[in-house]
Amino acid sequence: MRALISVSDKSGIVEFAGELNKLGIEIISTGGTYKKLREAKIPAVEVSEITGFPECLDGRVKTLHPVIHAGLLAVRSNPSHMKQLADLSIKPIDLVIVNLYPFKETVMKEGVTREEAVENIDIGGPTMLRAAAKNYQDVAVVVDPKDYDKVLSELKEYGEVTLDTKFYLMQKVFMHTAAYDTLIANYLREQRNDDSFPETLTLTFEKVQDMRYGENPHQKAAFYRETGKRKGSIADAIQLNGKELSFNNINDTNGALELLKEFTEPTVVACKHGNPCGVGSADNIYDAWKKAYEADKVSIFGGIVVLNRELTRNIAEEMMNIFLEVVVAPSYEEEALKLLQTKKNIRLLQLADIEVPQYEKAYDLKKVNGGLIVQTIDSKLLPDGELKVVTDRAPSDKEMEDLLFAWRVVKYVKSNGIALAKDKQTIGIGPGQVNRVWATKQSIEHAAELIGPDATKGAVLASDAFFPFDDCVEAAHKAGITAIIQPGGSIRDEDSIKKCNEYKIAMVFTGMRHFRH
Ligand code: 5GP
Repeated sequence: MRALISVSDKSGIVEFAGELNKLGIEIISTGGTYKKLREAKIPAVEVSEITGFPECLDGRVKTLHPVIHAGLLAVRSNPSHMKQLADLSIKPIDLVIVNLYPFKETVMKEGVTREEAVENIDIGGPTMLRAAAKNYQDVAVVVDPKDYDKVLSELKEYGEVTLDTKFYLMQKVFMHTAAYDTLIANYLREQRNDDSFPETLTLTFEKVQDMRYGENPHQKAAFYRETGKRKGSIADAIQLNGKELSFNNINDTNGALELLKEFTEPTVVACKHGNPCGVGSADNIYDAWKKAYEADKVSIFGGIVVLNRELTRNIAEEMMNIFLEVVVAPSYEEEALKLLQTKKNIRLLQLADIEVPQYEKAYDLKKVNGGLIVQTIDSKLLPDGELKVVTDRAPSDKEMEDLLFAWRVVKYVKSNGIALAKDKQTIGIGPGQVNRVWATKQSIEHAAELIGPDATKGAVLASDAFFPFDDCVEAAHKAGITAIIQPGGSIRDEDSIKKCNEYKIAMVFTGMRHFRH
């Protein structure tokens, strides 16, 4: 039996090759790998010796030779193939251990040049992998060091690698080379600043973990992270306590983090099922927490809380009295962490780069039955121009501050979404209604029921899309709301403006909609 070993990631290779050698398997290898094996006193022959041709062009051509490729591709059960090999004095290769130039690691390095990246596109490696994989009945091909043990134990037990395993290894190779080429293609697209949508969309994601189940217990699930160097996402968080994250935890926490990223001052966001239920901003994180919690003490039960400052002991003490699924903070005071860790079930995550905004060029992907709809992410809060005051009365400075606060929140409320706020605290949220006046009424009821009958007096309202009728203004006025922010753009805008003027409500148009379906 002959094995060809040519690896860039040399971890575990000496041990593996040593075992192959003990089994009497002849080893052929390329320059760097050969050197490493010889240093470990493992007998090996250089590829150049087999081909009779030196490695050349700075390693661009090492194994690209008919002696190697015929040895890989000859079908052993085909007499004509075997005769041709014999006539050409070529010996078959039965085992291929190859992993590729580190293209991903190279492009993830800071300040890498295009030339350096291109030089790290492996040519001979994928060619060998594909040739060996195509001939899977006769050749076992190992691309992942994690498979060394499996292959070795079969060789020891049966004297060969089973067909089942060879088929598994073949599939793994094509998955690997497909992902490798996708990385190259996407890197080049970024280099060209090409923001058109390509004819075929190829993306690579790497598995973070399998999950116990999906959105419901009868659905299977796994979590993948986007390949690349982005920071500050749920995939970068370090878990300090609690059971592993569930599918819903990840989805909901992601939504909460997106909203939190809109704020720079100390802010706390409490979320439930992907919708915010309480948000507060203040001069310090404890006051922000108080606001977020008191905004809705009911819905926060079983919810997710994310903070953009260190989680302090006084917050931890109050969190001890509620059941929370997930907490994310950039850091934890030592005592706060100790205290929260006494609760076994609470998932505590640390995300150092919590404030890093989403990567603007990221795709927002939505799976539909039979396809995928793709868009750029909703990375803007407001258009570049000024907000337009459309009523006789302009908002006061304080109203304006609250309007912008509520606008940030409503961007992350499922449509039709309404958010009410006062003193940089949400007081009522109406998410996911099938018409806008219901969302308005729900947010008002929320405030009255959870905070108090006068909660909406002097509050402001934000709407993720325009008012189709003036009924929302009517409802807002009845509740005592004094200012409104919304995109505008309805053919009946004038009706709403008139109603606002009648009730001395100040209204501003943003000219930008934030649907979230
Ligand atoms: P070594 O460190 O052994 O010199 O090189 C190992 C690497 O070379 C592996 O990652 C393998 O995929 C790659 N490789 C093997 N043959 C060729 C070839 O002919 N051309 C290029 N560009 N890379 C090769």
